[in-house]
Amino acid sequence: MGVVSVVACKTYDPGAVRGALEAVLAPIGGMGRFVQPGMRVLVKPNLLAPLPPERAVTTHPTVVRAVAEMVQEAGGEVWIGDSPAGPVGNPESLWRRTGMTEVAAATGARLVPFDGVEWRRLRGQDYFIARPVFAADLVITLPKLKTHTLTLYTGAVKNLFGAIPGTRKREVHYRAPAVPEFSQALADVLDLVRPGLAIMDGVIGQEGNGPGAGGTPRVYGCLAASADPVALDTVLSRAMGCRPGEVLHLREAAARGLGVGDPEAIEVLGDQRVLNFGPVRLPVIQRLLRMPLPGWLTTPLRRVARLRPRLTAPADCVGCGHCAGACPRGAVILNRTPRFRLDRCVGCMCCAEVCPQGVIAPYRGRLARLLGLE
Ligand code: SF4
Ligand code: SF4
Repeated sequence: MGVVSVVACKTYDPGAVRGALEAVLAPIGGMGRFVQPGMRVLVKPNLLAPLPPERAVTTHPTVVRAVAEMVQEAGGEVWIGDSPAGPVGNPESLWRRTGMTEVAAATGARLVPFDGVEWRRLRGQDYFIARPVFAADLVITLPKLKTHTLTLYTGAVKNLFGAIPGTRKREVHYRAPAVPEFSQALADVLDLVRPGLAIMDGVIGQEGNGPGAGGTPRVYGCLAASADPVALDTVLSRAMGCRPGEVLHLREAAARGLGVGDPEAIEVLGDQRVLNFGPVRLPVIQRLLRMPLPGWLTTPLRRVARLRPRLTAPADCVGCGHCAGACPRGAVILNRTPRFRLDRCVGCMCCAEVCPQGVIAPYRGRLARLLGLE
């Protein structure tokens, strides 16, 4: 049986966030259940790109700070770490722009760069995971509630993909370009990292073409927490409108016994009305592709529906090259602004995820649009 706690939290006012965090943790044992004095605790927010908190791409610093303070009050030593989807260049800019520098200054938490790695092999695949993940006594996954153009939903489990440093993520995308294989890789990473606590920043998340700057900020007005990241994501993805089993990495993780993915086997504690999000704009095509279609239809549909990247506002491109650095297939040719080699592109949208200007958007071909699949 999984247990997930939820509370309303409609603003990032520090007092409101701290009160909501205490309220959401209390029914599952409080921070003291997870943190013992002297523990080294890695808090893993979603710092997908060096973007300011108001873009709703990264976990809000007010939530990170409240978590850090509660860990410290329980006697733990706080490390904050993550690695964005592409090459960051200067990690200081990631910390500063996402508000983590201020969190560290206010709490004394350590900002740990995810540069050194440890090698692990699982199910015949190699993974290079950031060293602090294994050096910590406890990992807290602290995601942002968002849609995802590839995985449909991103939360506590998908957030762990950031444990693979920077451009090493490309290797996984390269060998697992399609959603089913990539979902298995996400379950592998969960298996390797095994976070002890998951806390969702669902105050303001995203809908539409998340999870990067191309997504649309959306007020969900909640915090949620669980010792089981799969159960947490199952509850929240359902609240966003996903059907059971539609988020493939959750289905895979549950099938391997890494958490509870059956909504009927999850007890939700707290005022469940906070989960009444209303209609949420999900990536439509990703839902269609998950329906049980006959094989002769699936292959052409996948081809028609394949995502392609497009530069939407060339004048706003700052030529940073993050898109080219994140591409697992060498499909981005940078010449002040990027050009996409669609013959190489696998539609993973890593380029869009890392673009700090939000000027790369996914699109589908004309036939997909004629069929109403956009
Ligand atoms: S161009 Fe973008 S969508 Fe295509 S493979 Fe590269 S990163 Fe992925
Ligand atoms: S599109 Fe321009 S701004 Fe965006 S990541 Fe590529 S180079 Fe940087």
